[in-house]
Amino acid sequence: MLVIFFPKETQEKENRSALTPQTAKKFSALGFEVLVEKAAGTKAAISDSEYEAAGAKIVDNFASGAANADVVARVKCSSCEEISAIKPGTLHISFLDTNRLSAEVKAFQKSGIRAISLEMIPRSTIAQKFDVLSSQASLAGYAAVLIAATSVGKAFPMMTTPAGTIHPLNVLVIGVGVAGLQAIAMAKRLGARVEAFDTRIETEEQVKSLGAKFLKIDIGEVAKMEQGYAKELSDEQIQKQRQGMIAACQRADIVITTAKVFGKKAPILVTKDMLDAIRSETLFVDMAVAFGGNVEGSVADVLLKYSNWVNILGIGEAEQTVASTASQVFAENIYNFIEHFYSREQRKIILDPSDGIISKCLV
Ligand code: NAD
Repeated sequence: MLVIFFPKETQEKENRSALTPQTAKKFSALGFEVLVEKAAGTKAAISDSEYEAAGAKIVDNFASGAANADVVARVKCSSCEEISAIKPGTLHISFLDTNRLSAEVKAFQKSGIRAISLEMIPRSTIAQKFDVLSSQASLAGYAAVLIAATSVGKAFPMMTTPAGTIHPLNVLVIGVGVAGLQAIAMAKRLGARVEAFDTRIETEEQVKSLGAKFLKIDIGEVAKMEQGYAKELSDEQIQKQRQGMIAACQRADIVITTAKVFGKKAPILVTKDMLDAIRSETLFVDMAVAFGGNVEGSVADVLLKYSNWVNILGIGEAEQTVASTASQVFAENIYNFIEHFYSREQRKIILDPSDGIISKCLV
């Protein structure tokens, strides 16, 4: 019987858990023994007794879980010290920012541990059920609007009151990927007027289908990358985009930016000059801050008063504010990944390096 171990997340701002009682049951039914570190689910509102009732066994610390595990699964990558406690041949599954975590990648290689980098899983139809980037970005887009709503000091919907009409809020969403689409949908649900822009032309239809207006900016031809990702713009195109966005930023009460370019630093779309030019009260919410930021000067998890009119809020991982729901979908993604590659006949996980998914995400 394969043993799968779910350690407690150690990063202070990490609230999610890679295991829920529902997925613990599914792993048991698949034939796994499930170990979970004490208090692993506390921040996601899951108690040890709920895990036990679902058939998992609680272990006191990382070392005692890792010593027997064939698979270690978690949200964020284990530290080098933790990796040294994992036995050779184990499969480790987590987010693994290979550019930033080079010491951890080397530690995996040195210890003979196979590591899956969840962010490198291709965004293909077959891999959708374990696409953690999408499941988390969707919740991040939703949560960012709620955070913005409590920081902006204005109401979203139109209201006709005896004291006069309250006009709906104007929201501009820049970057209409998974997070951006959900942000548009949420802002619409709250009653805002929404405009949106993306460099991928196919997003115009998606924006309109959510009842929002597509902001047209002529930046010329934009090449596409594999899997539908956006390609980096030229300097000239970025200049054109900034010019085209100024008036829309002026009329927006909230500007939510989510623009990223896979494997590259996020483009600066709102410069200091643009912020200086704004003479209407505007809250900029930068959801790309962890990737370098779309708004010049934004800081993760800080609300900056930039000027009398402009506030800037950098949001690192908005999905952390809905940790219980984020854990639910993350845990399902992890289960689906393992179940997809598990052979019931051979009772092992088969990771063929020539497989279209594994070749992209196995480190
Ligand atoms: P992302 O987080 O990398 O980027 C967010 C958005 O920013 C993207 O829509 C991108 O086009 C946009 N962007 C980049 N530069 C910009 C700029 N200068 N101005 C404005 N917007 C800019 O993207 P994501 O949300 O992870 O996914 C993007 C796309 O990937 C999806 O919309 C889809 O096409 C593809 N995808 C496919 C699947 C699948 O199952 N086939 C699953 C998920 C995503």
